[in-house]
Amino acid sequence: SLSQSQPTLDTTRFIARHVAGLRRSGIRDFFELVAKTDGVISLGIGEPDFDTPQPIRDAVKTAMDTGKTHYTSNLGLPELRKEICRYAESHFKTSYRPDDEVLVTVGVSEGLDLALRSLLNPGDKVMYHQPCYVSYAPSVDLVHAVGVPVATSAAEQFSLDAPALQAAWQPGCKLLLLNLPCNPTGGVCSREQLERIARFAIEKDMIVISDEIYSELIFEGTHTSIASLPGMRERTLLLHGFSKAFAMTGFRLGYACGPAPLIEAMMKVHQYSMLCAPSISQEGALAALRLGDDATKFMRDRYRERRDLFVRRINAAGLVCHLPRGSFYAFPSIASTGLDEGEFARRLLTEHKVAVVPGTAFGDAGKGHVRACFTANEQKLNLACDQIEKLLASLGSR
Ligand code: PLP
Repeated sequence: SLSQSQPTLDTTRFIARHVAGLRRSGIRDFFELVAKTDGVISLGIGEPDFDTPQPIRDAVKTAMDTGKTHYTSNLGLPELRKEICRYAESHFKTSYRPDDEVLVTVGVSEGLDLALRSLLNPGDKVMYHQPCYVSYAPSVDLVHAVGVPVATSAAEQFSLDAPALQAAWQPGCKLLLLNLPCNPTGGVCSREQLERIARFAIEKDMIVISDEIYSELIFEGTHTSIASLPGMRERTLLLHGFSKAFAMTGFRLGYACGPAPLIEAMMKVHQYSMLCAPSISQEGALAALRLGDDATKFMRDRYRERRDLFVRRINAAGLVCHLPRGSFYAFPSIASTGLDEGEFARRLLTEHKVAVVPGTAFGDAGKGHVRACFTANEQKLNLACDQIEKLLASLGSR
């Protein structure tokens, strides 16, 4: 008979090898430490500091009160897909059909997961520039594909060009994963660089996943989507979402736009795994797209001021930091301190109560750097910079 005092079962042996072998996120480890420390100024998490704009919140409340709380079409609300196409036309200069070229996803996160799962066979190779968003390498591992990282450097403001891709290319490279503007470096590419990258992708017959989640957060110049370049629309999956530019991280809403066969392939997975994105979030997203650009522009202007303040102060304090041209992250070098990035972040947190993320959380190419998210308001940023100065003074590295 079953007794209460069974020997403890070792459940770890039930875990699949590809998950057991997955590395723990550097960010997760670090934030467990942050959570145990009181009174921290966090420049750690990549989140807008603003509340979601009121009209978006109102739309969600109305949606809840009027019964829009059911499953939607697997692809997403038809009106939302139409609005996404209008937005893509004006912001990405690319036309998509709402009926079969747009899929509403649970954040860009789901879009990325679906894209990799539906395009890659085991052993296929994926090129991505590094330092890169924390989920790229593990997401590639999870589908048994092989990552081919291409290092970008501070000397080139972490932008990417075709020669670096040519040098890293290997037979079997099927997919190029781009994130411009880039998390964690703020790197962007000029139109000329993007054109060379597009020619490279065409010449090597690669498909491109372009994660443009920070496209509204360009501080100088305008955004160019690789999907809008000649010959690229048919080989690009454009991923975008509402988390960053619209301050809607908790809504978990994004979308993928691309050629119908690729959207259909992603949809095949999505219909079984997710069914549809959350209905009330879709209603909020619809309101966000109908808002016009004012709210996004207001937030971008504040982030630009905060970027300027933060980068000026930490350069003055003795760290070397390029001016990030997009996203909301600064990626200073901490090499002059004599500490490695993990030690720097740990001492800044435990001795001075400021959280930044060690650069190696974003791959080996992040060595010698830390990532600081500058969405916090001026007062918090100034306090954080005071604390960074104190750490540097204690290290005698000024
Ligand atoms: N892609 C990049 C480059 C990101 O930085 C993030 C979030 O930080 C995501 C995707 C995930 O975005 P979402 O909230 O839309 O899932």
